[in-house]
Amino acid sequence: NNNLSVKNKSISPSVTLAITAKAKKMKADGIDIISFGAGEPDFNTPAHIRKAAIDAIEKGLTGYTASAGLPNLKQAICEKLKNDNNLDYTPENIVVSNGAKHSLFNTLQVICNPGDEVIIPIPYWVSYPEMVKMADAKPVFVKTSEENGFKLKKESLLNAINNKTKAIILNSPNNPTGTVYTKEELKEIAEIAVKHNIFVISDEIYEKLIYEGNHISIASLGNEIKKLTIVINGMSKAYAMTGWRIGYLAADSEIAKIVTNIQSHATSNPNTIAQYASIEALKGDQSPIKEMTNAFNERRKYMVDKINSIDKLSCRMPEGAFYVMVNISKIIGTTINGFEINSSMDFAEYLLDTAKVAVIPGAGFGLDNYIRLSYATSLDNIKEGLNRIEKAIK
Ligand code: PLP
Repeated sequence: NNNLSVKNKSISPSVTLAITAKAKKMKADGIDIISFGAGEPDFNTPAHIRKAAIDAIEKGLTGYTASAGLPNLKQAICEKLKNDNNLDYTPENIVVSNGAKHSLFNTLQVICNPGDEVIIPIPYWVSYPEMVKMADAKPVFVKTSEENGFKLKKESLLNAINNKTKAIILNSPNNPTGTVYTKEELKEIAEIAVKHNIFVISDEIYEKLIYEGNHISIASLGNEIKKLTIVINGMSKAYAMTGWRIGYLAADSEIAKIVTNIQSHATSNPNTIAQYASIEALKGDQSPIKEMTNAFNERRKYMVDKINSIDKLSCRMPEGAFYVMVNISKIIGTTINGFEINSSMDFAEYLLDTAKVAVIPGAGFGLDNYIRLSYATSLDNIKEGLNRIEKAIK
């Protein structure tokens, strides 16, 4: 239909959703599928958080709130940012939205003008480029290498910067690579951003899922970089609350104000009951995070060891999140059991059809020589799934 928005017609559906949808359908048809596609913790939301939501309902706390979120939740977020990240913000710097994804979308709407460029390191989370396009800006991709831990390096960043550059999107711990940036590496990026007056959109949603090193927020590295940084975080991954849809941003108060204005017209406040649950998540018992990360850590080590023991596959040890990027360059361009594998999509389809294992093709993240495996699934599933993959490529 030529009568529709040209800009939005070109937005592609999420490839991660496409393959998981196919795997789900096969599962529903009774096929025994092992899925490495999960983008969410395989844990229930902790009981005390669920109870806070039930209490809110029972007390009738079910009306609208302020568009930017409950004052008590914004206060709890400020305390969290102070305690965990050494960041001083007041509630006027905070906007609570329907998930970190919504916070990212709002941020790009507020900072971008037509023709602006936004730097996105490869591999990237699938939604970044599409969100940039929806904000009338242009994604500019910068390559990283596995040898450098998939990190954005100074030289390649400098090469990508010009007078149209508006922002850099950073994601540490990273989806899909699990990479965690060190303080020194962030300092280097911060210096460049300050020098060229470029915003840094710092997606810190996997902050709590970290097994080696520490999470540092780039905004904490000085006042100048803090002013340019929009910190994005949320409840989904740390508290196993993906379906509750609560995320937030912390930014300069002018940015927060404009985000609030757009949000007030587009979606109003995020779900009130979920906001009450989020206050409990941030202020209540934090030990469920430890239990979850202990389980993830055990699976991470098993998965990486096993992958590196399989002929033609290799991967680096990720420091955070719950994903492993598996290098399949020895498989691309070969034929396995009569199947020609010319892309990560071919390989993902081959594994799904032949081994009944769902993986996410790296092409969706801008890296075709890789597949992404999630370890947000049981150790038994991981063992069985990797055995199937091993057999399927022998
Ligand atoms: N950022 C990254 C890198 C993610 O992987 C995800 C979820 O998969 C999000 C943001 C969005 O999380 P939320 O559920 O808070 O919208």
